[in-house]
Amino acid sequence: MTGSEQLHVLAEIGPLRRDLVSAGYDQAMSLLVQRFPSLEIGLWPSGTSAWGWPIPDAWTFRAGSVRSESGRFEIDLAEHPLRVGSYSVPVDTTLSRDEFLQHVRTHPHLPDALPFAFHYYADRWTVGLSSHERDTLPDERFHVVIRSERSSSNLSIAEWHLAGDSEVEFVLSTHLCHAGQVSDGLSGVVTGLAVMERLAELPRRRLSYRLLIGPETIGAIAWLSRNEHRFDSVAGGLFLEMTGLDQPAALQHAFASDTWMNRALSAGFESAEPGGWQAPHRQIVGNDERQFNAPGVRIPMLSLSRALPRSDPHAPFEAYHSSEDTVRLVSEERLEQSVETVLTMLSVIESDYTPVGHFKGEPFLSGAGIDNDDPALRLPHRQRLMVLDYLDGALPVSEIAQKLNLPFDLVLLFVDRLVEAGLVTRKTELPE
Ligand SMILES: [Zn+2]
Repeated sequence: MTGSEQLHVLAEIGPLRRDLVSAGYDQAMSLLVQRFPSLEIGLWPSGTSAWGWPIPDAWTFRAGSVRSESGRFEIDLAEHPLRVGSYSVPVDTTLSRDEFLQHVRTHPHLPDALPFAFHYYADRWTVGLSSHERDTLPDERFHVVIRSERSSSNLSIAEWHLAGDSEVEFVLSTHLCHAGQVSDGLSGVVTGLAVMERLAELPRRRLSYRLLIGPETIGAIAWLSRNEHRFDSVAGGLFLEMTGLDQPAALQHAFASDTWMNRALSAGFESAEPGGWQAPHRQIVGNDERQFNAPGVRIPMLSLSRALPRSDPHAPFEAYHSSEDTVRLVSEERLEQSVETVLTMLSVIESDYTPVGHFKGEPFLSGAGIDNDDPALRLPHRQRLMVLDYLDGALPVSEIAQKLNLPFDLVLLFVDRLVEAGLVTRKTELPE
């Protein structure tokens, strides 16, 4: 998918009412499956348990309205998915202004936006208003009608599995819920699909890859609870969202940061996104990677987004959890750049290895046919000598590159050349 095709998918699916288990979510899923037939859908029946979490019923919003006694204030709750809190219980009641205000949700800083409110596991109803609407409500009684229902159905998760040479697997995690919103959730789905398309084109892959598309939190828990037998073979993962915003890229590390997976993906990120920033687990944005990193699972999953640091008053982005999180904030170039960044990060775990030198002292490079002035070896001579210091089988190429603050691809090019010259061999097992 080119950037403009990605934008097209965002524009088509963005406005849908994609509550956790809902007709709008299923509609989004079938649009994706039509476009990407490699996606396979798994179903989790409502009411069954996933590690103690109940799989929710489907929620259907049929109609609703709020009208003040005089008719001075009147809204149709069907006009935007965020007019009603997700999973609101049905209601038909008349309330005083103060009583009604207890059910009103507004966005904390965008005066014209509707907020994203949800109460998946509570018997509650809420109405989304702009701050301006709330502040100008007449002092009258309000008749509120919400026609909604919860019914038994299935939570659905799409998977795209690409087999590689090894059964060792890497998971790309994304979420499709968040009704009417684009950057939060849906943009990561589109980036994940574009990455899988490109991975599928590779003549061979060292690792196997699995893209997951589900509802946030409960989807990750549902998938993990059914796939415990896979935990040992999943080497790591990456959660994706907010990938099309015109903001610097942000890489949140795994809970287990002192791992090859974390360091290798971080090295790839550094070379792909020189203007990007990184922070530890739970220090940027919290999504499905929380479940993968948690006790009992402990799969090192990092998170790539274009979220602003928490010190920024607009973090993670100004329109977060609001009706203004639309395709208008998404840049085609940033979408394309995010796909390239993920592919660069994955190319490190595809090509990294631990080099073992078979020489004592500094090797006689000219004698092995490696010319000091060879322009194909883009690493300067002095830095090549620094790389040689680390070739005792202790560190993978990615870590040597990070220790020396050198680009991974240039260090790899040099070490590969030493392998061809017979001065170094590759350890066959993946680094740890
Ligand atoms: Zn969210």
